[in-house]
Amino acid sequence: MDKIKMTTPIVEMDGDEMTRIIWGWIKDILIKPYVNLRTEYYDLGLVNRERTGDKVTHDAANAIKTYGVGVKCATITPNAQRVAEYNLSQMWKSPNGTIRAILDGTVFRAPILVKGINPYIPTWTAPITIARHAYGDVYKDVEAYVKKGESAKLVVTGSDNERDIEIFDFSKTGGVVLGMHNTDNSITSFAKSCFNYALDTKQDLWFSTKDTISKTYDHRFKDIFRQVYDKEYKEKFEKAGITYFYTLIDDAVARVVRSNGGMIWACKNYDGDVMSDMVATAFGSLAMMTSVLVSPDGNYEYEAAHGTVTRHYYKYRDGKPTSTNPVATIFAWSGALGKRAQMDGNKELADFAAKLEKATIGTIEDGYMTGDLAALFKGDKEPVTMQTEDFLKKIAEKLG
Ligand code: NAP
Ligand code: MG
Repeated sequence: MDKIKMTTPIVEMDGDEMTRIIWGWIKDILIKPYVNLRTEYYDLGLVNRERTGDKVTHDAANAIKTYGVGVKCATITPNAQRVAEYNLSQMWKSPNGTIRAILDGTVFRAPILVKGINPYIPTWTAPITIARHAYGDVYKDVEAYVKKGESAKLVVTGSDNERDIEIFDFSKTGGVVLGMHNTDNSITSFAKSCFNYALDTKQDLWFSTKDTISKTYDHRFKDIFRQVYDKEYKEKFEKAGITYFYTLIDDAVARVVRSNGGMIWACKNYDGDVMSDMVATAFGSLAMMTSVLVSPDGNYEYEAAHGTVTRHYYKYRDGKPTSTNPVATIFAWSGALGKRAQMDGNKELADFAAKLEKATIGTIEDGYMTGDLAALFKGDKEPVTMQTEDFLKKIAEKLG
């Protein structure tokens, strides 16, 4: 059989620990036998980030801007313990943070649904995608403790309209204050990424904030989304048969719980942080969550939502068998190959990406899976727990 050809490379970003091992297996067992894989390879493993002074991460992010599609393995974000473990010259920044800062954009996280792994909310029959704004608010704030007898003000300078707004007079007791910001540019990119992704995946878009209480800050988000929608997306949405719906965050929570899923829920930075963990857990497992960063100018970076699975890696390094779930990493590859196929008009590659996902889900539904899923599985068959490599070979059998 002739292998499927690729006309344009995708940007491949290798990573760390257990996911780095699985990365190689997925390519060898599930991709290279079928596809003449063309990638521009960047080694984002911590050893190479140290060796290159983290230049490799910047280069990879810029390459995504050139080629439009990237796929990334999980990577270590160093802390003090990692600095010692890897003998690092400095505590390098989170690669995901660096890539996001260069590409700008929104992170979409969606669960992979499989019959037999049941969500805690039984009506959730379709995936719920959380779109998290990845800039500003409480993640880039300044905070202070204010003593009794002091008072705190918000001061705006730089124009004729200098303002001095009292936050609170702490004359009777000490307390805390916080100053945070967001920008029209970032909110506009967030809105565009969400509208584009909704059109791309043909799902309704929900957006929620607390604009009734936060009458300037949250209201700005609501207004920008509405303006961008009316100006650039209203007609496209109507043509695609999908809707844009804005509501208050507390109303959204109640509606999402009662829904059947199948929508994208756009959230401000903090709301998205909290809601994505809630949704992932309610759907069953972090190892079944995909993540894609979509930039406002239409670049895509695919990855698994979980980390490098350190505990399993130490076992693997000691020569012990591991049953680490590779599904989200497989879907990162299928997502990237599928997007490449769509951009290049490559039908064979698009079919392969879809077949790979179907074979992966089918293998689990047949009863073959890794240990984490076997513990949750309630299908027709008794689940068979497999080591990662054997599970990948089982998927390959189904791929044919
Ligand atoms: P983690 O790697 O996601 O693993 C946490 C635990 O979740 C694991 O010990 C395992 O539980 C379970 N788990 C996660 N993925 C799994 C999978 N594919 N199959 C089976 N079980 C899975 O998070 P972490 O231990 O907090 O972080 C480890 C490293 O990953 C850190 O250095 C962190 O910086 C990095 N990280 C990277 C990214 C990224 O690159 N996007 C994201 C998060 C974390 P059991 O041990 O109970 O089996
Ligand atoms: Mg979180």
